[in-house]
Amino acid sequence: MFTGSCLCQAIRFELNGELSSPRYCHCNKCVKFSGTSPAAWAMATSAELSLVNPNAEVTKFNSGRGLRCFCSNCGSGVWFESIDFPEIVGIPLGVIDEGEIPTPEQHLWVNSKPDWCTINDELPQREQGPE
Ligand SMILES: [Zn+2]
Ligand SMILES: [Zn+2]
Repeated sequence: MFTGSCLCQAIRFELNGELSSPRYCHCNKCVKFSGTSPAAWAMATSAELSLVNPNAEVTKFNSGRGLRCFCSNCGSGVWFESIDFPEIVGIPLGVIDEGEIPTPEQHLWVNSKPDWCTINDELPQREQGPE
């Protein structure tokens, strides 16, 4: 069980399940959306994600293969809805407040990593996305 929230707390969510495949993503879309690199994510089951306040205003931007969902008030990214795999959501690790947050296990999309970002760990690196 995890809880999460945006910066202004208008969006609060619960995740009644596990977080899997924690990763650092360096793709150009995550860099733009987060404003930094890498963006840290883990995967969850969409059916297990629920809003504490169902009236919270979530804006969804289609960045190509999925919807980047963010708070309409403060702009915090709160989750990612995959178009190819609608049963899966991505959760940015920084919005999680409670729960055993997993540590990222690999770097993805290293071929689009900005030059100013230096990787200082021994984790596996993939040129592109997950297999
Ligand atoms: Zn907010
Ligand atoms: Zn990415």
